[in-house]
Amino acid sequence: MGSDTEQWIRQPIVVVLGHVDHGKTTLLDKIRGTAVAKKEPGEITQHVGASMVPASVLKKVTEPLRKFFPRLTVDIPGILFIDTPGHELFSNLRRRGGSVADLALLVVDVVEGFQKQTYEALNILKEKRVPFVVVANKIDRVEGWVSKPDSSFLESLKSQSQRALAKLDERIYVIVSKLYEQGFEADRFDRVRDFRKTVAVVPVSAKTGEGIPELLALITGLVQQFMKKRLVTKNEPAKGVVLEVKEEPGFGTTVDAVIFDGVLKRGDTIVLAGKNGPIVTKIRALLMPRPLQDMRMHEGAFTLIDQVVAAAGVKISAANLDDALAGSPIYVVPSDEVLGEVVKAVREEVSEIIVRGSGN
Ligand code: GDP
Repeated sequence: MGSDTEQWIRQPIVVVLGHVDHGKTTLLDKIRGTAVAKKEPGEITQHVGASMVPASVLKKVTEPLRKFFPRLTVDIPGILFIDTPGHELFSNLRRRGGSVADLALLVVDVVEGFQKQTYEALNILKEKRVPFVVVANKIDRVEGWVSKPDSSFLESLKSQSQRALAKLDERIYVIVSKLYEQGFEADRFDRVRDFRKTVAVVPVSAKTGEGIPELLALITGLVQQFMKKRLVTKNEPAKGVVLEVKEEPGFGTTVDAVIFDGVLKRGDTIVLAGKNGPIVTKIRALLMPRPLQDMRMHEGAFTLIDQVVAAAGVKISAANLDDALAGSPIYVVPSDEVLGEVVKAVREEVSEIIVRGSGN
């Protein structure tokens, strides 16, 4: 980072919600696999608790769509997907005035349609005012569908029978009507005219990869068109949120954090919420997964880094983290003079979270 006034557009932070077994984990695995397979050498795709799909991958994956959408461009640095799906984690992603998530994917099994947790997820998204896209997953299971693995949805459409197309539309319109009942206008993404008014439904198969290019292109396009202002960040003390508090061999208690603003540095003094009030501590180490290794298989395989730039998922090692609370804000203290103010801000925010968050 250069001067203090330097600013940039960060990666949007995307979460995945939906009913159990509708394919959230499979979708994230597919996206992660795509990111790893298509990245440039040296590009880091694995963060702590999150996966990055860099701009270079977005460009490659969406390339086949150029013929349908010639004006498609990628000018965000990538997309940061939170790796763990589900409501519980999502409710940990609070920030003052909403959610750390910039966008959500609501995964619905296209054959099963809306289920209990689909409604629950939708209610949370409504309450937190998080924009979302509906992922109509498992299109490979639609009657008569002949899969074209890893192709775009629009390409795959061309080789489907009239019957399969009609069956797909039938299923999609069941989803569209459920969304309508819940107060949302929705349509298949390629029929949407105004994305500010209509929720886009993207048919995909997390299993075969069909529709993944459209999904990534749509997220990119929506963010670039409607969210750029929210994504502007600059070289200033970081803001983040605690995803998880974890014991890490050799490091003691650590926190996994999502940084959504600014730059976080080793040696920074941070304030976060603890069970018995705000914790003030100094960052001893910042840890990222070692490249090319999956964190879940190689627990503890970390690389030490000096700083991270938003947006990022990172593990923080510091003293006194035993009582840290998941969902707490993390603020860097820019100078000793303002320590009191930062502590006060964390205290206020947490009492707000505890009052508003009860019952979630
Ligand atoms: P989650 O509970 O929402 O995370 O769902 P999972 O990702 O664990 O998926 C539940 C089941 O559905 C698993 O057996 C997956 O293999 C299967 N599945 C997920 N996506 C697809 C898909 O696109 N097509 C098919 N045929 N099966 C899928």
